[in-house]
Amino acid sequence: MIGPGKAIGILGGGQLGRMFTHAAQSLGYRVHVYEPSGPSPAGAVADRETVAAYGDLSALGEFARSVEVATYEFENIPAEPLEAIAKLVGLHPSPGVLRTCQNRWREKAWLGANGFPHVPYAEALEGDIGAAAAQLGLPCVVKTADFGYDGKGQMRISSQDDLARAAAIFRGRRCVVEKWVDFEREISVICARTASGETRPFPASENIHADHILDISIVPARIAPAVEAEARRLAVEIAGRLGVVGLVAVEMFLARDGRLIVNELAPRPHNSGHWSIDGGETSQFEQHVRAVCGLPLGPAGARNPTVMVNILGDLWARGGAAPGEPNWAAVLSEPRAKLHLYGKPEPRPGRKMGHFTVQGDDLEDTLALARAVKARL
Ligand code: AMP
Repeated sequence: MIGPGKAIGILGGGQLGRMFTHAAQSLGYRVHVYEPSGPSPAGAVADRETVAAYGDLSALGEFARSVEVATYEFENIPAEPLEAIAKLVGLHPSPGVLRTCQNRWREKAWLGANGFPHVPYAEALEGDIGAAAAQLGLPCVVKTADFGYDGKGQMRISSQDDLARAAAIFRGRRCVVEKWVDFEREISVICARTASGETRPFPASENIHADHILDISIVPARIAPAVEAEARRLAVEIAGRLGVVGLVAVEMFLARDGRLIVNELAPRPHNSGHWSIDGGETSQFEQHVRAVCGLPLGPAGARNPTVMVNILGDLWARGGAAPGEPNWAAVLSEPRAKLHLYGKPEPRPGRKMGHFTVQGDDLEDTLALARAVKARL
């Protein structure tokens, strides 16, 4: 066990790293952030920040030697620096887990090989997108195999014209073409797992996306108890089979025939778990700290119905109006709402600037209030 007072290293300095840092410091840990792109949201609150490229082996070595254990908040880290760190200090989840999850094709192949339900797909270079689409049928969606997130590097294909455009857009890139799932709902389950094999899943979150980016998460998800139980079972099995130490977020589609289909895995805290900071018995960030440090896991239940709404940079320039701050009073004056901002200086369309949560006794009432607050922002 790595006890409070010790130093934890985290690769990636975005909002997930920032909220991880808050949780680790509350438990008495020191946090060292490593971020290539410059002073970061997590670095602003951490005990120490190193700004250096992922390829800078000397900076990576110093980072690894300064901490007792290391983790990451960002999936698109090249494999080599992770392996270099793992030689010097415990790194959780392991580089092998990240390797499986950071490439959509490898991830789906792993799901298939381990008997987990996944979306029908075909691997394609840009010239093969047409053949893959013909095999799967339209509509389908093309995604870059690597380095995609939040709808970046994705395109829905519903016509021959789309196919021609996709071939141009994805030229030279390895892609995955997936069948478009006409789902009833999207949900996710985040599961924590320790090195000793203890697992604890959070309740399923129901996720509503806009333009492929998470907009609203609802806990508890509006699904039948048997579906909730199956979703948690899948997440626990995936965490165990992958050998995750830390967190794994399992995004799933609930198909109209009642089947759960795994869409994506993320071996880190996840946007759909932000509700747990205000609404969970233990937040996903504290659970991540507990898991990577070998502490006992905390209880993972929801204290009451909670709705989380993302705040994107688009809000700063709505409807072509002059850019301006959102109306924070809309959230701050609502006693059942909590505002979380990530300290990012520059609002850009699609950029996650913060989120807020609303809690209440009744889920539909809480969701209606969250939507009303969002509309007033
Ligand atoms: P992803 O980056 O794969 O999580 O995709 C982002 C979002 O796009 C998902 O959460 C869905 O809302 C939508 N999406 C992605 N792939 C599919 C699919 N095969 N069928 C239907 N919707 C999808």
